Amino acid sequence: MHNNKNLTLSAPLSGPIIKLALVPDAVFSSGMMGDGIGIDPLNDCLYAPCDGVVVHVAKTAHALTIRAENGAELLLHVGLDTFDLQGEGFQLLVENGARVSNGQPLLRFNPDQIAQRCKSLISLLVLTNGEHFELHPPQHDTALAGEALLHIVARTSAAPVGGSGSTSQQAQGSVRITHHGGLHARPAALVRQTALGFKSLVRLHIGANSAPCDSIVRLLALGICEQDEVQVSCAGEDADAALQAVLAVLGKAQSAPAPARPALAPTPIRPLNPPGQLNGVCAAPGLASGPLFYLSGVQLPPDLGNHVPEQQLLALNTALDQVRAEIRLTLSAAREQHNCDEETIFATHLDLLEDSALLQASHVAIAQGHDAAHAWSDAIEQQCTILKSLGNTLLAERSNDLHDLQQRVLRALLGESGHCQLPPGAIVAAHELTPSDLLMLSAQNVAGLCMAAGGATSHVAILARGKGLPCLVALGPDVLCLPAGQEVILDADNARLELTPTTERVEQVRQTILAQQQRFARQQLHAREPAMTCDGQHIEIAANVASSHEAASAHANGADGVGLLRTEFLFVDRTTAPNEKEQIAAYQGVLNAMGDKPVIIRTIDVGGDKQLDYLPLPVEANPVLGLRGIRLAQLHPQVLDQQLRALLQVSPMQRCRILLPMITEVDELLHIRRRLDALRVEMGLSQRPELGVMIEVPAAALMAEQLAEHADFLSIGTNDLSQYTLAMDRDHAGLAARVDALHPALLRLIAHTCAGAAKHQRWVGVCGALASDPLATPVLIGLGVRELSVSPLQIGEIKARVRQLDAGMCQTLSQTLLNMSNAASVREACRQYWPLCD
Ligand code: PEP
Ligand code: MG
Repeated sequence: MHNNKNLTLSAPLSGPIIKLALVPDAVFSSGMMGDGIGIDPLNDCLYAPCDGVVVHVAKTAHALTIRAENGAELLLHVGLDTFDLQGEGFQLLVENGARVSNGQPLLRFNPDQIAQRCKSLISLLVLTNGEHFELHPPQHDTALAGEALLHIVARTSAAPVGGSGSTSQQAQGSVRITHHGGLHARPAALVRQTALGFKSLVRLHIGANSAPCDSIVRLLALGICEQDEVQVSCAGEDADAALQAVLAVLGKAQSAPAPARPALAPTPIRPLNPPGQLNGVCAAPGLASGPLFYLSGVQLPPDLGNHVPEQQLLALNTALDQVRAEIRLTLSAAREQHNCDEETIFATHLDLLEDSALLQASHVAIAQGHDAAHAWSDAIEQQCTILKSLGNTLLAERSNDLHDLQQRVLRALLGESGHCQLPPGAIVAAHELTPSDLLMLSAQNVAGLCMAAGGATSHVAILARGKGLPCLVALGPDVLCLPAGQEVILDADNARLELTPTTERVEQVRQTILAQQQRFARQQLHAREPAMTCDGQHIEIAANVASSHEAASAHANGADGVGLLRTEFLFVDRTTAPNEKEQIAAYQGVLNAMGDKPVIIRTIDVGGDKQLDYLPLPVEANPVLGLRGIRLAQLHPQVLDQQLRALLQVSPMQRCRILLPMITEVDELLHIRRRLDALRVEMGLSQRPELGVMIEVPAAALMAEQLAEHADFLSIGTNDLSQYTLAMDRDHAGLAARVDALHPALLRLIAHTCAGAAKHQRWVGVCGALASDPLATPVLIGLGVRELSVSPLQIGEIKARVRQLDAGMCQTLSQTLLNMSNAASVREACRQYWPLCD
């Protein structure tokens, strides 16, 4: 319980007082940590500024937080960047949890060591819960340890932290961050959303720094990395529940990037540029040529002053509302198209527009007499500077999302549309494009994108890959100095922009692109016909899809069926599980989109890298080796039962096949088969859909014969089968080149699977990424695979490939590959045996 009285603080150090805004550290000077003062210490001991309890001590002993008896929380931070000393030169005189009295020595430090090895000796006293208290600045220029320094006054408008009400509670806990890449924008948005669901005030602490959970940008500015240990404190009537919810969100691994995306890229390193060429970093593959056009940001007119703050506030709010409405439109379009990347990115933008830190900073600037445009623009710039100073590539790239919102709100304030007319086929250059620029440009059919700055893991990069737009980032400022309209070649596959291509080179690239387009068009002509090898073996070419929208596209592109419907699409990015009715509608939608073709629906495969907010799975040391795939039935049998019930209700049932992920032994299959039969009987049905097993762990491949005895078909998931056979993380950037499913060990497992299935006259398909690799088509056919499930746009290409092959010859030659020593030799042999031609 706190008494909530006003308080006079004594100086914790002796020395000149520095205004917070002048402290040479953006995190402090921006006021992000809270209001306070700096002192350039002349002594070597830090004293308690009041009576209170030590509530946090940095592991590296350079900072601690005291909670005064009135509830005010005071961070005392010795020197700047002193975290780097890792405790050297600091001697703590109190422990975490200790009760201290005003003037008590807390910490001794070595000023010489700090002065020589750190950024500055300037030390800080910061009030971190300013939502409840106000800090009245000191009246003098110099502090004298133990003498009265400043006053803390309780705000009347805010509820006191742990106030005198009998329902108030405090709760604290700690957790290790398991989100891929640390606490970046999306997990921060999730933390904020979760915290806002409770009445308690929730704060996140790391080391000596802390931030309220109602502000994404403040959370980002903590620079929290994967595996960092953070503390959560909650104060309010539902503190315990809030703590549990926030800890669960923080400790839960975020979905890692989808396999098609590159894993976390290191900071782009730009190689030296040869003459006539700029080297960059590939953010989305492809080749394009066209005239160069520039897209520039909004030019902010000078602030002429003399504003009425109320009018400026109204203007800002109107502009924010306009942008919110625009983003909501984008969101509903993304939802309709089941475009999860677009949906998550723009949902975060919507959250950022509500961010208390951004809004507060803009409101303060307006109150100080600035116009709305400058107030908003500066508030964003300030946050971007902080994000970029954290030394974390992923967080630095999130400043691009803030710039997007900066530009959109400025355009709304200045009455600019943001739409520019570009000729189709243009290559657009900019300092850094934003997600909303990208949507606008792709709608105008531009040919490619290049940026002076940016990174391969930015949201723009994700969107560009999704739209198939070649994109280069980190080209450097020279890309902005070329004459507009100049013909350039964007070779994203080779990470280069050719600035002055000869007419012959332009012609050669045009021919290559034309040949690619013509080949695609030719393949499309026959994409709807069956794929038969020249010796008459029929191979079914199905599609991997994740929604009815994608199924419709697969059907239009000639798919013989859906070989893999990943049902996770229905379960992720929401706060509650889809109910049975919703599931029936979604699965039926896919069946309807496929005409009379069969659809293989995989039961939910979460766990590992895919987590659900509403279905807590235990935090695991090795999640990909833990409770994932069919093992979920162990933990949440009702989830699987509900899905099976939904699957039993689609019609016609003969076109629906059920596929079970991550099976390792026959008993798992038998258990689900029994459940399916029991549910069928309960529902008065005489039949059940065919039931197949994914072969994606070596155990399943080795047990294929035993599994095939009880399964109707087998489908090989080469993505996971590679991961588990080669013991290499399928998303590991450093191992990406070596996780090759054409490794002879994988081929042996595939051969063993097909042989086992054949003993029971069961067919085998492949639904992992290897099925979409035309070099692998003859090998898979040769080993006995009869169905390939590929990405919808590759159906024509893989069917064309099948038609070039002789299945008998494939069988003979593929046996020789099993004895090769590595994947590279297998690839080379494939090129020789079965050259890829038009
Ligand atoms: C696989 O593992 O090959 C597969 C198709 O499943 P997913 O990529 O969804 O894990
Ligand atoms: Mg898999």
